[in-house]
Amino acid sequence: MTPPRCHTSLSDIRDAVAAARGQGRRIALVPTMGALHEGHLSLVRKAQDNADHVIVSIFVNPTQFAPTEDFASYPRDAEADIRALASLGVESVFLPVQEEMYPSGFATGVTIGGPATGLESDSRPHFFNGVALVVTKLLLACQPDIAVFGEKDYQQLCVIRQLVRDLNIPVTILAAPTVREADGLAMSSRNRYLDEDARRRAALLPEVLRDTLRALSDCTGADRQEEALLRKSIARLTDGGFRVEYLSLRDAETLAPPTDDSRHLRLLVAAWLEKTRLIDNMAFERRA
Ligand code: AMP
Repeated sequence: MTPPRCHTSLSDIRDAVAAARGQGRRIALVPTMGALHEGHLSLVRKAQDNADHVIVSIFVNPTQFAPTEDFASYPRDAEADIRALASLGVESVFLPVQEEMYPSGFATGVTIGGPATGLESDSRPHFFNGVALVVTKLLLACQPDIAVFGEKDYQQLCVIRQLVRDLNIPVTILAAPTVREADGLAMSSRNRYLDEDARRRAALLPEVLRDTLRALSDCTGADRQEEALLRKSIARLTDGGFRVEYLSLRDAETLAPPTDDSRHLRLLVAAWLEKTRLIDNMAFERRA
């Protein structure tokens, strides 16, 4: 398998994109922060199914981390990442350097509301503006026809859709389903932070989500019944050693609290297990 071309400068990636375009190729971008796992690779396969030239970007974006968060310790393993991408036959890897992405004197931001409001933003108010900024820069650098994002970060997916719509960025956003470990835990680069015991206990998170969905589907749709169910699920997670930040049922498109008429919903959770913050979500179709 030919190894991917690695591009570290904006001019390099622009040249690669121009060359691919010149050959009439459809270009896909898969933005990542590296430490790649099967979840990321499923996005790459989706990109390959929908384009002729796939660019995977690897960039741990400082503007989406608060000073108290894990930017410095975030897992980085570019060599292993490139090997994994080579085995899939990816054409280009974009590894921008921080000095070119955010040179000294950098003074521009992207502010986003709508689906960015609440949930993750309640405890990470800086997060989605940082994501929106870096994704805008990556899309401008690579000008792909499509970009692929994971449902694992469901609120982020909604934010990106809002961003490209509001800024008229000419790209089609594709979503890929969450890839899980055998016990149901959503794959995540941050799962490496879990020690053996915490890793075993982490499977309670998807289990509670699944059980909550099952119980919700027996509800008549009455608000209070749903709220009581969510409270019970939070208590179960708390008993299992989690500190729950939110477990919330939202409209799947706007992420606003559902109205009586909402049918397509999403159950979203963020919870700490010891020193690791885990997020997950699942779809829920409410009966009419
Ligand atoms: P990250 O490297 O964590 O910023 O993630 C890069 C992309 O991979 C995002 O679009 C994530 O939603 C997606 N992703 C991460 N984990 C998974 C997973 N378990 N299944 C599917 N997509 C994922």
